Amino acid sequence: MQQGKLIVFSAPSGSGKTTIVRHLLGLPELNLEFSISATSREPRGEEIDGSDYYFISLEEFKKHIKAEDFLEWEEVYRDNFYGTLKSEIDRIWAKGKNVIFDIDVAGGLRIKRKFPEETLAVFVKPPSIDELKIRLKKRSTESEDKINMRIAKASVELATAPQFDRIIKNYDLDIAKQEAFELVRDFLK
Ligand code: 5GP
Repeated sequence: MQQGKLIVFSAPSGSGKTTIVRHLLGLPELNLEFSISATSREPRGEEIDGSDYYFISLEEFKKHIKAEDFLEWEEVYRDNFYGTLKSEIDRIWAKGKNVIFDIDVAGGLRIKRKFPEETLAVFVKPPSIDELKIRLKKRSTESEDKINMRIAKASVELATAPQFDRIIKNYDLDIAKQEAFELVRDFLK
């Protein structure tokens, strides 16, 4: 199969990486397609099955782990499993496109290790933990408990930033989007 490239965006929840990834997906010259992850968590807000995620049961998720269907998977939060199905990469590469991932730091680094030459791994850094808290509260899609769980994980995640190929500081979203575009464009050249 013809191999495209892999573009990984990882960051603590609320850093703005999803917004940046959506922006890049809207730029036809980058020829990107979103890697739809499988997850055992419930859909949130307007999320659509087969577009934002493949929403599957915990039982089904565990069957895929056993069958070794995942390129990588993580129990990102307790009982909330997320993973990239190998079939997802094949699906996108078969179309002659590059794959872009919005995944957690451990998953992102695992993909980089599996495909070191083909992968650009980018870490999106939030201005501060306090700012992250404000953003997650504004989003108001999760309970206080879940927000606190995400904040607690963020400090650990921030420590992994130096392991990524590049770091983007998301202080100003427009600047971060432009920086992301340039990084990806140059990598795909
Ligand atoms: P959320 O519940 O906010 O959609 O996602 C929670 C975290 O899981 C985010 O950091 C998101 O990027 C990450 N995530 C989403 N899909 C995957 C995946 O396939 N693998 C891994 N390792 N993490 C993922």
